[in-house]
Amino acid sequence: MSELNLYNTLSKKVEIFKPKEEGRVKMYTCGPTVYHFAHIGNLRSYIMEDVLEKYLRYIGYDVKRVMNITDVGHLTSDADSGEDKMLKGAKREHKTVMEIAQFYRKAFFDDCDKLNIKTPDVVEPATNCIAEFIHMIEVLLEKEYAYVAGGNVYFDTSKLKEYYVLSNQNEEDLQIGVRDDVEEDSNKKNKTDFVLWFTKSKFDAQELKWESPWGVGYPGWHIECSCISIKHLGEFLDIHCGGVDNIFPHHTNEIAQSEAYLDHKWCGYWFHVQHLNDKTGKMSKSSGEFLTVSLLEEKGYNPLVYRMFCLQSHYRKPLLFDYDVLDNVKTAYGKLVRKVAALNNDGEPDKDKIAEYQKLFNDAMGNDINTSQAITVLYDVLKADMNDVSKKYLIEDFDKVLSLGLTDCGAVKGEIDEELVKLVEEMIAERNAARKEKDFAKADAIRNELLQKGFEIKDTREGTVWSEIK
Ligand code: AMP
Ligand code: ZN
Repeated sequence: MSELNLYNTLSKKVEIFKPKEEGRVKMYTCGPTVYHFAHIGNLRSYIMEDVLEKYLRYIGYDVKRVMNITDVGHLTSDADSGEDKMLKGAKREHKTVMEIAQFYRKAFFDDCDKLNIKTPDVVEPATNCIAEFIHMIEVLLEKEYAYVAGGNVYFDTSKLKEYYVLSNQNEEDLQIGVRDDVEEDSNKKNKTDFVLWFTKSKFDAQELKWESPWGVGYPGWHIECSCISIKHLGEFLDIHCGGVDNIFPHHTNEIAQSEAYLDHKWCGYWFHVQHLNDKTGKMSKSSGEFLTVSLLEEKGYNPLVYRMFCLQSHYRKPLLFDYDVLDNVKTAYGKLVRKVAALNNDGEPDKDKIAEYQKLFNDAMGNDINTSQAITVLYDVLKADMNDVSKKYLIEDFDKVLSLGLTDCGAVKGEIDEELVKLVEEMIAERNAARKEKDFAKADAIRNELLQKGFEIKDTREGTVWSEIK
């Protein structure tokens, strides 16, 4: 198995990745809060996590990946204050919370499909797991890691030997973590304590509430990820993913409550994707142009151009969104797809060349998921001295991880260049010759190849005509 060197936020070092169980990886991803469309910043995180998952599979791991859907408990401030985001979405659109959750969950997965992001093996909404949350909170209370105050249940961070395991927080960072805090919660014993279960909050209009030993209420945000992960992946997790804003307080709190509950270390590797920023700073749903996949499509960008834009930079570096750069990527992507579509099927795969370039691809990806280097290797394949069949094999192989749709979309719609037109016409001529000789198997094979490249043909009285499949 090829070696993967991966940066671990926990150790703050690049480490050789080794899962707890040989050959199997348990992976957890913080899912979306489904109160609005995902912006392309959120989707940068999901694209890079998708690449990580696919690379683990590529090198032979059996991966089980779980993702939650936050449909309750995520307040406008990550530090447990403000309104529930879901309720905010429901009010905005004069709908129920469940209607909002259903609509934006579907919208999220539609965006993921367009970006070739695979759906995790398990997707679990928080509202499905209330009984599990209550059980975990009861255990935390029994072990005295939690306390009840003012009707809410809090996690007592002072009970831990070390709370800031993921980040070296100082007072200043702490202020950033709780920057939206409207007012200090006087029930908390320590500033960093967080809510496990709410029965009292400043807004009574909370739509979804459940019975609990502490009164009718609803769970805090952090408990859902610990619980859903443990429910589906057991006591030991190999990789936990999310955007960097999740490091504190969300992931810090997940570790606190999971390890207090389990009595041992929970997760080996923490994978965090840096933010996509716009010119005004961090991308958000409330300020600036709300950049969504649909908006990019309206502006004429294939969503996979955005995927390539993300893959061209390292996941641990902040990325600035810029339309000029996106335009360059759009041109490069179009050329790349056309080059791939123009490769022919003649000859036998050259095993040595294939192995040589696969090694280069693994060197890039194994070096802390260096996707931009992997794309360079892909370009090198196209330039290399090897036959088209081997090139095609390698590109299909790399695209299992990169998922840029290089071999299945054939041509970028509306951007067919002369090279490709020539190829299509040559193939049609070859097919017509085969038909004349009554070699219908060959004629059908050519028709299928054209279909794969994105072209449909029709035999008319005036001859064979072709069109691009829309
Ligand atoms: P949310 O739906 O707000 O819970 O966020 C979903 C995911 O997107 C989380 O993993 C966040 O850390 C991540 N995220 C939020 N903003 C950005 C951004 N500007 N760039 C990259 N990832 C982000
Ligand atoms: Zn989470």
